[in-house]
Amino acid sequence: MNVNSPVHEVPFVGLTMVKRLKKLGIDSVLDLIYYFPFRHDDYSLTSPISQIQPGEIATIKGQIISIENVYTRSGKKIQKAVVSDGEDKLFVTWFNQPFLVKSLPQGTFVSISGKVEKFGLKKAITSPKYEKQNSAMELTQTGVHTGRLVPVYPETDGVSSKWIRSRVVKVLPKTIDQIEEFLPEEIKKENGLTGLQEAIKQMHFPENQEKLNKARERLGFDEFFEIQINTLSRKKEWKEKKLAHAISVDRDKVISLIKSLPFTLTDAQRRVLSEILQDLGKDKAMNRLLEGDVGSGKTVVAAIACYVAFLNKFQSALMSPTQILAQQHYKTLTNILAPLGVNVALVTSDQKTAKDLSSFDLIVGTHALIQKDIRFENLALVIVDEQHRFGVQQRALLSQKAKEKTPHILTMTATPIPRTVALTVYGDLDLSVIDEMPIGRQNVKTWVVPSNKRQAAYGWISQRVKDTDEQAFIVCPLIEESSFETMKSVKAASVEFERLSNKVFPNLRLGLLHGRMKPKEKEEQMQKMKEGLIDILVATPVVEVGIDIPTATIMMIETSERFGLAQLHQLRGRVGRGNKQSYCLLFSESHNSIYRLKHLENNYSGATLAELDLKLRGPGDLFGKAQHGYPQLKVGSYSDLELIKKARSAAEKLLPEIEKFPSIKKLLDKKGEIVPN
Ligand code: ADP
Ligand code: MG
Repeated sequence: MNVNSPVHEVPFVGLTMVKRLKKLGIDSVLDLIYYFPFRHDDYSLTSPISQIQPGEIATIKGQIISIENVYTRSGKKIQKAVVSDGEDKLFVTWFNQPFLVKSLPQGTFVSISGKVEKFGLKKAITSPKYEKQNSAMELTQTGVHTGRLVPVYPETDGVSSKWIRSRVVKVLPKTIDQIEEFLPEEIKKENGLTGLQEAIKQMHFPENQEKLNKARERLGFDEFFEIQINTLSRKKEWKEKKLAHAISVDRDKVISLIKSLPFTLTDAQRRVLSEILQDLGKDKAMNRLLEGDVGSGKTVVAAIACYVAFLNKFQSALMSPTQILAQQHYKTLTNILAPLGVNVALVTSDQKTAKDLSSFDLIVGTHALIQKDIRFENLALVIVDEQHRFGVQQRALLSQKAKEKTPHILTMTATPIPRTVALTVYGDLDLSVIDEMPIGRQNVKTWVVPSNKRQAAYGWISQRVKDTDEQAFIVCPLIEESSFETMKSVKAASVEFERLSNKVFPNLRLGLLHGRMKPKEKEEQMQKMKEGLIDILVATPVVEVGIDIPTATIMMIETSERFGLAQLHQLRGRVGRGNKQSYCLLFSESHNSIYRLKHLENNYSGATLAELDLKLRGPGDLFGKAQHGYPQLKVGSYSDLELIKKARSAAEKLLPEIEKFPSIKKLLDKKGEIVPN
């Protein structure tokens, strides 16, 4: 059998199975080998029946001495068997598997794993894992499904963990020799890594916990190594090949612009600004990520960069993910820059200031900017706001609008990025972080509201909104896991809006905002909110990022347990923009999540919360998993800083001599750019 063969060449894999396996991403034998268990059940304690203790999880081996179907009063079938190992007896019960009577008839040698219970003097196991053995001889060996650390795989309809196990155990010995070790001996030694073949074997069928840990370490290392050798190679290529216009900085003019602002820049803003301006001065294109919590003041930094480009007679473009944001930026940037002679244009799908952009210095817009008929004169700086909302392609298309040279690229995000992720996924970007809020900003007071306090919380909001000229946002339940709005979530929002308007806040003025509304309608709602004509704006979870309404002081979030901590932190950043005390109410019906959510009550650093997200979220957290937006790892974990650092330094070491390692070179570009979402 060849490791690259299609999976249907594996015995007992027919057409139906091929289709099911495809759902799990398994097309080839190699895919099957790289389909790793997400945990192992420890059935390695094998014991004579006489010595097992109630409560223990153990494997016993023996012979079936009786087995029968028993009918319960409700008509269900129970299978009752007695197993003997010659010395003692074990009573076994299964449910609804009547075929067992035929497949494990009296006399069969079996191995049984599960949790031991005691009924009177009888020892029993209910619903155990079982494995047929062909003879008494085999009973002395380690099993596949019992008697060991048993791999448990992610399943799908019609593909059970047991089935996968039974295929892998057959395929591995025939193909493992074909798996090529790609790490040089030296790197393995330095990092104490197991060989690849050994790691794969132990990952599926570990001899013991220690070997399993070593296997995980090696395979996790490989995952990070692959991501990092790719990001580092892209970074190197970018640094060497992408020529840009060097944009020189007129210090006096920049200083006088900064002085004219109605506020003083924070130290963090000054620091990132100087990092950016240094990059702009080079004739190699900048590729920098500017990270800062909502409200930390990224826009003004971007504005200054655009001004510097303008002084050098170059055009800049700023792309925003939504129309509302584009309009907001257009206004802000016009305010700051128009008095200095910068000609600002707005380009959205239904509003084009002008087709011919040659007379404009700064063009703000949505993805409409990348349309074919949009041409720039001499674009030298591209700024992308909320980068995770755009694909690589969209970003690339905008950059290609520049003529001769690559434009300098600044991507901005309010998504807190844990250090480990910055080192891997964003390894090709230079990072600037605004880690400080403008002075005078107060933290948004945050409370987790369990279901029994819901009514009281509604009452509090109602009172507060009535008594003051403050306003509230209510974020609707997160229905589906998607970074874009679906029809379903729009519907849910409309229903929630009706309920709140009629039943909860009948005396207040409510508005609704969701992504399927026409841009005009959205703009109207925002305008009404700004003018104080709406008390409470009900919005879908994908609420327009960055909306700026200083009079809004209350943010109430439904089903908050479905969000990551960092995401909730971003959402609450929509309030507290003015200088009034603001509040965030996290509604949750899930008792189990309250402990996790409570972190928001006393933690106000996006970065710290992002780190916590990584630590607190188990693999079973469906909503949480895809939400943090990083590429999925099979074995490794983004919280494993040590391993990530090791893989990073190995990648740094090997990249310069990659030509010597063809099997590592093969890892390059295999996946193209890894983009979150
Ligand atoms: P974000 O980083 O979320 O894009 P913005 O750039 O929209 O934040 O800034 C949020 C608000 O803070 C804006 O109204 C802006 O004018 C104001 N702002 C920016 N920098 C400062 C500062 N250093 N001091 C006070 N206010 C500031
Ligand atoms: Mg912003």
